[in-house]
Amino acid sequence: ASGYTLLRDPHFNKGLAFTEKERDAHYLRGLLPPTVIPQDTQVKKMIQHIRQYQVPLQRYTAMMDLQERNERLFYKLLIEHVEELLPIVYTPTVGEACQKYGDIFMRPQGLYISLKEKGRILEVLRNWPEKNIQVIVVTDGERILGLGDLGCQCLPITIDVGTNNEKLLNDELYIGLKQRRAVGQEYSELLHEFMTAVKQTYGEKVLIQFEDFANHNAFDLLEKYRSTHLVFNDDIQGTASVVLAGLVAALKLVGGNLADHRFLFLGAGEAGTGIAELIALETSKQTNLPLEEVRKNIWLVDSKGLIVRSRKESLQHFKKPWAHEHEPVKNLLDAVNKIKPTVLIGTSGQGRTFTKEVIEAMTSINEKPIILSLSNPTSQSECTAEEAYKWSKGRAIFASGSPFPPVEYNGKVFTPGQANNAYIFPGFGLGLIMSGTIRVHDDLLLAACKFITYTNINFE
Ligand code: NAP
Ligand code: MN
Repeated sequence: ASGYTLLRDPHFNKGLAFTEKERDAHYLRGLLPPTVIPQDTQVKKMIQHIRQYQVPLQRYTAMMDLQERNERLFYKLLIEHVEELLPIVYTPTVGEACQKYGDIFMRPQGLYISLKEKGRILEVLRNWPEKNIQVIVVTDGERILGLGDLGCQCLPITIDVGTNNEKLLNDELYIGLKQRRAVGQEYSELLHEFMTAVKQTYGEKVLIQFEDFANHNAFDLLEKYRSTHLVFNDDIQGTASVVLAGLVAALKLVGGNLADHRFLFLGAGEAGTGIAELIALETSKQTNLPLEEVRKNIWLVDSKGLIVRSRKESLQHFKKPWAHEHEPVKNLLDAVNKIKPTVLIGTSGQGRTFTKEVIEAMTSINEKPIILSLSNPTSQSECTAEEAYKWSKGRAIFASGSPFPPVEYNGKVFTPGQANNAYIFPGFGLGLIMSGTIRVHDDLLLAACKFITYTNINFE
């Protein structure tokens, strides 16, 4: 692109940052006001512009507008102000943006593949202007953050098989297919056509990141395609890697190795069982004990209570490895008192489930209880940072999926950590692409985990 079209191409547009030389070379003379404003100054101007908005969703829209105009500036701004802007372009604000996507929808982003395109997915991929694709992030929108079924939403590739969200089905501004979700053969055929078309179009080395699928499909898709495609599921595997790194960092404060700790999860879905399995794998490597043995230190609670052996027959397959011998336990508080975990991890998508009683029980069992409230966005967090520090009398080692500001308790300031797969999936994806690998296996997740342990997780 050059001239007028260059200014409208968000990949290459630099706005007023085009130099005199570039303005000559690319036929931009007269298409811009005469001043040259370097990118550093643009960043300063933009951050002030964003800060004028008080409402987070307005800041989000301003960021999206910028991305559509000038991608380089967008990323530069994001990198330089990541602490301030990540909560805007990512959790929690992105959750609200997804819920209101129909209202704020302006221009389509990425690709939308719906049941209408069945049999024509190759043709759809050819409509995308970029030919050299290395990474695809795909969702079917059934489990966006902890917000459930949000139908056809704003990720680069959305597979639209309908929605079971009544509100969206009745919303005249809803932009997706207005029908109930396709399941079974109809669903898997569309997904299979998609997976095949992607490999055919972009080759063996294209990375497909599954994002926010509901767990009944997530585990099946991963199992089905992990041996034929370069795929990973961010919610199962990315989360596991980042949380294991966080735990290793936390153990430096608390003492002991993974094998010395006992873990209890609230929530036994993608995130919960994914983390549990990677903890077990790493513990098994450290101790030379078999997986089955080390799994016994890890317990999970789902919506029906503690996962125990007597429930095994009726459990979904991904829960079965965690069905240990124990009497039935109905609720989390009882499970904490019975299991006496040293680490409590929330992956339930249910806000305010780590109650005062639960945190107090953790605190009476442990000198320094490790408490991770991983559910997103903020409204779904199992507890807030303030609750964790206050109810544990300042003894909890706490991190959350969505960011919380520092908390002052008893004259001391506690800064909570953020444990979110956003800290790993971009780097993990980049690593996969750079290494030229064509399959993802668990050792790569452990390697990524070790890498971030050395770099960027801090607890206080
Ligand atoms: P999921 O596969 O649907 O799993 C949710 C689990 O929570 C299920 O086992 C469900 O029980 C259980 N559950 C629901 N309500 C419960 C209750 N009242 N008491 C006890 N258990 C309950 O979802 P997911 O993919 O694991 O995601 C769950 C949450 O984790 C979401 O909020 C998501 O945002 C968050 N997450 C965070 C990160 C991060 O990086 N921080 C990464 C991924 C996910 P049943 O099995 O009995 O239905
Ligand atoms: Mn996710």
